[in-house]
Amino acid sequence: MAQYRTKVLIIGSGPAGLTAAIYAARANFNPLVIAGMQAGGQLITTPDIENFPGFEEKIGGAVLMERIQKQAERTGATVIYDTIVKADLSKRPFVCTGDSGDVYVSDAVIVATGASPRWLDIDGEFKYRGFGVSACATCDGFFFRKKPVCVIGGGNVAAEEALYLANIASKVTLIHRRDELRAEKVLQDALFANPNITTVFDAVPVEFVGTDMPLALTGVKVKNQKTGEISVIPCEGAFVAIGYRPNTEIFAGQLEMYESKFLKTKPDSAATNIPGVFCAGDVKSPLYQQAIIAAGSGCIAALEAEAFINEEKA
Ligand code: FAD
Ligand code: NAP
Repeated sequence: MAQYRTKVLIIGSGPAGLTAAIYAARANFNPLVIAGMQAGGQLITTPDIENFPGFEEKIGGAVLMERIQKQAERTGATVIYDTIVKADLSKRPFVCTGDSGDVYVSDAVIVATGASPRWLDIDGEFKYRGFGVSACATCDGFFFRKKPVCVIGGGNVAAEEALYLANIASKVTLIHRRDELRAEKVLQDALFANPNITTVFDAVPVEFVGTDMPLALTGVKVKNQKTGEISVIPCEGAFVAIGYRPNTEIFAGQLEMYESKFLKTKPDSAATNIPGVFCAGDVKSPLYQQAIIAAGSGCIAALEAEAFINEEKA
């Protein structure tokens, strides 16, 4: 079991964590980045990124994250392949413990643990993920140009994804488990007015169906809540939009969170309720879950951590 001492500990190695690392390293803090179970973060699951500035051609998510990691390491950050399982933020220095048993002691902590899309956990979902089943229309919608798609969910994200896809796909079917959407009225109005979107209400998805060779989705099997009738809604792409789950469990009882478990910060800041603990990326915002936003907020968190450490020294 090793003990590491650092000025800035960054938990998470997605765009938020690694951007924070670049800035903290350039401030000469030699930050440690704890990579977590998904080194590189959510983007490594997507083959093509077309909306991250700086790349004329699309870039693979894993390649992009590898390049950002190398940039962080070149500037002086160290990436450690461990997962934080315990964080004691009750006093300074902060003490975090890894799955490995190693202990990380730091003056400041940047929480960049991201959020994970919630999945339905029904048959075929895991099998067709990346082969028709997705949780991100902005990222993967383009692959279903002029093809029929389904969106599952009744919240703002589902409505926004359906509207986004309506400009790309041949037909969008919004599947919702109740007969009333949760999405805001303005989105509902736009949704119902769109001739390319059909809604199927009271429908609970029970299975994703498709072919094996090639591995491809052909439809979503649903059960009508009221009649019990089973039917298959044909589609080549299915977008699960049933909410996001922030990775904040280990901070429960210490960091202030919304009911949704996303972290609260001071207005226009990365500062949490604990002085010296900052947060960045998807873990703090359920609204704009995009890599560029995560990277930008990683920068803010690192600059604020730098100011905090310098003020403590003065
Ligand atoms: P994440 O990327 O979620 O990274 C979180 C990090 O925290 C991971 O490294 C994880 O291992 C680590 N972690 C979690 N818990 C712990 C712990 N206890 N200890 C240590 N580490 C921990 N956005 C775009 O802008 N363009 C796209 O094309 C695009 N495509 C996407 C495709 C898919 C399939 C998905 C799911 C998302 C996509 N996004 C895209 C959204 C984008 O990936 C996220 O907004 C972005 O990754 C958020 O960055 P983050 O650093 O906040 O969190
Ligand atoms: P959400 O508001 O929690 O909605 C999730 C939807 O998925 C709900 O309609 C829910 O159904 C459905 N659902 C949940 N579990 C399901 C399951 N197992 N099977 C089938 N359906 C299921 O989540 P979100 O749409 O991802 O939005 C997340 C947050 O971001 C929200 O706070 C939202 O308001 C916010 N947001 C805001 C904007 C905006 O302001 N423009 C845009 C996007 C997101 P029920 O309705 O039956 O519960």
